Amino acid sequence: MSLTSQQSITIEKINSSNINEVDFNNLEFGKEFTDYMFECDYKDGSWRNPTIKPFGPLTISPAAKVFHYGQAVFEGMKAYKDDQGKIWMFRPEDNFNRINKSAKRLAIPEFPRELFYQGLESMLLLDKEWIKPGLGNSLYIRPFVIATQNGVSASPSDAYKFMFLFSPAQSYYSGEVKVVIAEHFSRSADGGVGAAKAAGNYAAQFYPTNLAKEKGFDQVIWTDSNEHKYLEEAGTMNVFFRINDTLLTAPVSDRILDGITRKSVIALAEKDGIKTDVRKVKVSELIEASKNGSLKEIFGAGTAAVISPVRAFSYKDEVYNIPKKDTTFASRFKKELLDIQYNLVEDPFGWRHEVSSK
Ligand SMILES: *Cc1c(COP(=O)(O)O)cnc(C)c1O
Repeated sequence: MSLTSQQSITIEKINSSNINEVDFNNLEFGKEFTDYMFECDYKDGSWRNPTIKPFGPLTISPAAKVFHYGQAVFEGMKAYKDDQGKIWMFRPEDNFNRINKSAKRLAIPEFPRELFYQGLESMLLLDKEWIKPGLGNSLYIRPFVIATQNGVSASPSDAYKFMFLFSPAQSYYSGEVKVVIAEHFSRSADGGVGAAKAAGNYAAQFYPTNLAKEKGFDQVIWTDSNEHKYLEEAGTMNVFFRINDTLLTAPVSDRILDGITRKSVIALAEKDGIKTDVRKVKVSELIEASKNGSLKEIFGAGTAAVISPVRAFSYKDEVYNIPKKDTTFASRFKKELLDIQYNLVEDPFGWRHEVSSK
């Protein structure tokens, strides 16, 4: 009884749009939401009643399992508008596959592919005025799933809610970040949920990140939980190092999230003939490279900020600065990614997905 792909989506129209209440020139990331939201419930073994309705509060029992056991996963993706008014998404199939992979790890039922695209594309067309053209403007898309069954018994929920929220976003200069290399806390462990976009992974990062902030840093570079010897991720982004002219990044594992920006950067580097080494990177190697001047860049990669250059890092209370350069891999990959995302250049990889109003 899972004929969900055949279901049509119920649309409850808004009376009037809130778009004029939003200052698109001063957007704070993830703060404003569009007129609509998508909701679909899992009950009695199937996803049902897909609905697009006006954005607003939910009514959920305080006994819903998501509040007690954190059974929740999410995604982060973006939609873009080109100069002809066409709407594009970037590698959405990867986000779709990843939310189901995350769901599986958290014992959440998979969401059907057709319903994912139908819900997403129908809502993008309803909210299309919220996607502003121009490099840097985008619509941040937040798909998520929560466990809604009532009851505090520690077992997986038998009911879930899948939703999409849209938030208009601007290109923001994240500033050049300063990071602390983790020596004690961990984001993830072997056999854990680090490779899943589980809500709880973020909750676990806040406290160590606050400690870093108290010392004047912005983010933590996570190391392996066994020995704190290998560099794994930067905050909620994948992390790259440039030593001389070689690009280095850790291989994905069950501790490291398989980022779409990360694998796009690797593909671009290969296309551009930049030597890329996907292997474990030691903290000691980074310190050594910083001391002998061969460390040229560190940057984070993720959908929200795209590429985030790191200006300095601290390890064992010593601060290491990264010298400024005029031409960086970071700015080069950022431009190449944005050009493809905004339909400004050919897309040799087939990464762009057009949202058509058929
Ligand atoms: C989402 C996320 C990333 C970045 O993934 P993208 O697909 O590039 O947005 C990296 N690390 C963690 C821990 C994440 O949650």
